[in-house]
Amino acid sequence: MVVVGAGPAGSTAARQCALKGLKTLLLEKEKLPRYKPCGGAVSEKSLSLLDFKINKELVERECYGAILKYGRYGIKARKPYRFGILTSRDKFDFYLTEKAVNAGVELHDSEKVRSLNVLDSHVVVKTDKTSYNASSVIGADGVNSIVSRQVRDRFAPAELGLSFEAALPYDVDNLEDPDLIRTFFGCAPGGYGWVFPKREHLSVGIVGILSRFKEPKRAFTDFMEKRGLDPSVRFQTHLIPLGGYKRETCSDRIILVGDAAGYADPFLWEGIQYAIHSGKIAAGVISGSYGGGDFSNDRLSIYKKDCFKAFGENLEHSLEFSRLIHQYPNILIRLVASNEPLISRYLDTAVGRLGYRAYRNWLLLRVPYYLLQNFICR
Ligand SMILES: Cc1cc2nc3c(=O)[nH]c(=O)nc-3n(C[C@H](O)[C@H](O)[C@H](O)COP(=O)(O)OP(=O)(O)OC[C@H]3O[C@@H](n4cnc5c(N)ncnc54)[C@H](O)[C@@H]3O)c2cc1C
Repeated sequence: MVVVGAGPAGSTAARQCALKGLKTLLLEKEKLPRYKPCGGAVSEKSLSLLDFKINKELVERECYGAILKYGRYGIKARKPYRFGILTSRDKFDFYLTEKAVNAGVELHDSEKVRSLNVLDSHVVVKTDKTSYNASSVIGADGVNSIVSRQVRDRFAPAELGLSFEAALPYDVDNLEDPDLIRTFFGCAPGGYGWVFPKREHLSVGIVGILSRFKEPKRAFTDFMEKRGLDPSVRFQTHLIPLGGYKRETCSDRIILVGDAAGYADPFLWEGIQYAIHSGKIAAGVISGSYGGGDFSNDRLSIYKKDCFKAFGENLEHSLEFSRLIHQYPNILIRLVASNEPLISRYLDTAVGRLGYRAYRNWLLLRVPYYLLQNFICR
């Protein structure tokens, strides 16, 4: 079988396929390790999905809380437990790929998939070097996935986040609260800005909904200037799919995973967790298909159901929550940015203790009390 793309989704799927005894080829267009624009925040929930402990060298910072700002409002929340780590994606992703290779996966990097031809008996995968016949293909080739063209239409601009990201050299040890991540609302439509303290640099960036982002470069410059950070730093732009939409994720002989499937949290824009989780689920379903040789869409549709149960429903609630909170920022974001218990409780979602529906219900119940306290009784 062939897996296209060696990000967290592809490496996880390939490793799990190999562990289940499948002859697995992993194709990656870049020379590895490769740079990936990303905040590099990996939640405890994501780490718990891996079947191995990650190397300590990959942990650039352990995170115990967050600082959330919205206009002149701001709040700090610290948890008694670690809710995630910060890493560099080139190293983290390469580590997952090495784990796949150690499990028996054949890796071809610097080999780009150009097209797929799905036939009755197999799939022909054409690359810029040669072509392969595969009984099935897992498309883990990210937001601009070529494999996805066999399954669904391209993402619409309203279903995508546009991000600007830069790695800014910084004396992080002299930063107050280096173990807290910083998020800033109100600087990008439907999204936010971030400053994540890594080992020797800051990951800084903004992300907003593509269809509503009128002057993104201007917004990035403003964001940097307001924080006293160098706006002329070299940045990268990249897209993130918004999860929560009801999209097709498989067809005959093909399964999409991670960003290619559109699995990223549309409020927090976290994608690594869902990349790993969907990669594992896809490997389980595909390996189950080998017994009877049935790779039909009907059979592979178990994948959709399993993903929905595992995290898809939560992504739907995240999309609703994101729309709600960004519709009333002066009430909801302002309240969360002014009251420690409200942000502290939200952090429980990162360790999987709470889903979006539960958090939204919990928050809405408390809105009248905090409204009275913060805005009316003052
Ligand atoms: C700026 C930014 C910040 C982010 N911050 C965070 C964060 O802090 N935490 C978090 O959890 N998520 C974050 N995300 C989201 C996260 O990066 C993605 O959700 C995650 O990388 C998805 O993993 P993936 O394996 O599906 O895809 P990717 O990581 O994108 O990997 C896809 C791979 O496929 C390869 N590929 C593409 N096309 C082909 C082809 N034709 N042939 C062969 N190979 C191909 C690519 O080179 C790439 O290596 C961020 C995203 C962005 C853009």
